[in-house]
Amino acid sequence: MGSKRVYSICAMCTGRCPIVVDVNGNEVEHIWGNPHLLGGYHLCPRGAAGKALLNDTERPQTPLIRDGERGSGKWKSVSWDEALDYVAEKLKKIIDTYGAKSVVLSDRGGAITEFEKTFIAAIGSPNYFNHHAACSNSIHNAHLSVAGLARNGVTYDYKNCKYLVSFGRNLLESLVTGEAKNVIDMIDNGGKLIQIDVRWNYTAAKADRFFLINPGTDYALALALIHVIIKDSLYDSDFVKRWTVGFEELSNFVKPYTPEFAEKETGIPAAEIVKLAHDVGNAKPSVIFHLGWMTAWYSNDFYLRRAICSLNALLGVYEAKGGLIINKGPAAVGKPLKSLLAQVPKPKDPRFDGCGTKYPHLSGQWGLAQELAHVLLTDDPYPVRAYIVFRHDPLASLPDPDFFRSAFKKLDLLVSIDVNYSETGWFSDVILPEDTYLERTDHVIARNGPKPGYILRQAAVQRRFDTRPRWWIFKELANRLGVGQYFPYNSIEELIAWQLEGTGYKLEDFNEKGYIELVDKPIMWDRTDGLKFKTPSGKIEFISKKLEDAGVPSFIPYEKPIELKPGRFRLVTSKCALHTQGRTTSNNRLLNEYVSENHLYIHEDKAVELGIKEGDLLEVENEGEKQYIKAKLTKYIHPDVVFMLHGFGDDVPLRTRSFGKGASDIRLQKGLAKVAIGGNCPYTECTVSVKKAN
Ligand code: SF4
Repeated sequence: MGSKRVYSICAMCTGRCPIVVDVNGNEVEHIWGNPHLLGGYHLCPRGAAGKALLNDTERPQTPLIRDGERGSGKWKSVSWDEALDYVAEKLKKIIDTYGAKSVVLSDRGGAITEFEKTFIAAIGSPNYFNHHAACSNSIHNAHLSVAGLARNGVTYDYKNCKYLVSFGRNLLESLVTGEAKNVIDMIDNGGKLIQIDVRWNYTAAKADRFFLINPGTDYALALALIHVIIKDSLYDSDFVKRWTVGFEELSNFVKPYTPEFAEKETGIPAAEIVKLAHDVGNAKPSVIFHLGWMTAWYSNDFYLRRAICSLNALLGVYEAKGGLIINKGPAAVGKPLKSLLAQVPKPKDPRFDGCGTKYPHLSGQWGLAQELAHVLLTDDPYPVRAYIVFRHDPLASLPDPDFFRSAFKKLDLLVSIDVNYSETGWFSDVILPEDTYLERTDHVIARNGPKPGYILRQAAVQRRFDTRPRWWIFKELANRLGVGQYFPYNSIEELIAWQLEGTGYKLEDFNEKGYIELVDKPIMWDRTDGLKFKTPSGKIEFISKKLEDAGVPSFIPYEKPIELKPGRFRLVTSKCALHTQGRTTSNNRLLNEYVSENHLYIHEDKAVELGIKEGDLLEVENEGEKQYIKAKLTKYIHPDVVFMLHGFGDDVPLRTRSFGKGASDIRLQKGLAKVAIGGNCPYTECTVSVKKAN
């Protein structure tokens, strides 16, 4: 084996950046960004550190079956046949007793999800959900209700944007490589960045204006901006007339939310709010109000996100240069990929989590992860007895993991399919270890955007351990359960050829640049007659018929956030450029060297009041849960807030670099595994007390 360069897709976070991998023999020498798509070789640190994952012996190396109590860490290493037979036999028994709907499956979400979605549908269960369910559901459901578009149904045209307004999206720190680069290009081109947050961060440092907002009051600010934009006729009247319904109702609703009202709530001067409304009004339609990313904030987050979507609509930014371009897929140019999932009959049972029934306004596309524990404990609407967790770690990402752990005890089967030892994997009955993204080829995925196309993750090196790719694992399980006909291929190459049938392309066509572009120029729909909003009216709906039919109001009045009791702080979390939101990078040898634990950021005045000094070990407490973490004093944070990076406080002993380091935010989020109106968990409703540890 000599040197070679392989085009692929990063999997170190959910961003799926296009990469090139330089390989020497069977070793990865370096991982770069794909210059054809990223405009250079740049990559975030997590992406570059992917090579440390490949040879990491602290990941599962063979299939494992539990050989002791759940969570005891006692495992029996078994062959693939033994592990798959074991899982299939258990599933058969559970399906015979409780029906196929008693099996649920979750994953990390994203575009490479055909295998697991096909598998769960093939056995007859409607119960797929994903990680986004907890932390991005409010934006997803809000955008669907306003514009009929998914959270990722639009491309942000940053490079041509004149005003980018971000409510807490930390674009330059909890970053996705291409997006961060485009924002920097926007700034270089003279575009303005406005950051609104409860703490200064790297994005705030690059912003033209930064507003330190009182925690939990973002909705008041958004309503006041709408108020000024309508009152001062700053909106795009042609767009609003042609493409929206409910403008009059919106105008009446926001009348009380004056800038002066918002100043009292948010702490942002009324004059600044008026100026921002005029600035974006003058720059329209080359304006973006960022929809959000990890948006699981407060109980009213759904309405904040609906207000943000409404701001975009009022300024007519959809399908405008420098605004939000509606994504087009390969089907738009007559070249759709063939889909495994499309061959499977849709399961008829209602979902376990109530999407479409108990919660008629919520999409089941991502589902409701937080409902799983409640359903397990109550058997309502029906018993769930098997859970397959695929590259997803609910016990490291959902609030109050001990609550979930106790509910998981009711499962007859818990299977983790993952590259890493996850917290959930550690508590499972079986671990099926997957090849890393550098060792496996996945199915082709559609690149949706102004220039639709296809992109492919391709194996760069041979596997290190007794692991397998996802296409093989799900096919083998399906064969054992008698539904192998839905996986009609014998190799990934055969599947790719089938997917591409009728498109005129083949596997080799990915060799030149790693992707295939189906058009030369961006497809832009006509803003007079050609826009397609998938709402019941075909327009942007300030008043949503679907919501109202479900008994959910289109607007709700602003309510003050809960008052903090003396000595309490709101706990706010985020991620940094070196670690993902979950625990997929905390034990990475290269990344752990730089950031191996988290710290509690606290305002220095509050620290003085509490007798806390830089580096002191602190006890952070909520509802009896105590976490220990070192102090970081700063004046760049709202005094009512303390902040820590998410993803630390690892409980898996085999992950020796991250085990026991730092504090777990989710353990402190007691009682928050609940469904807010937008389907998200209200993570930021968590308050804590802080003191020096004894
Ligand atoms: S943002 Fe970084 S870690 Fe995430 S996919 Fe892109 S390169 Fe990989």
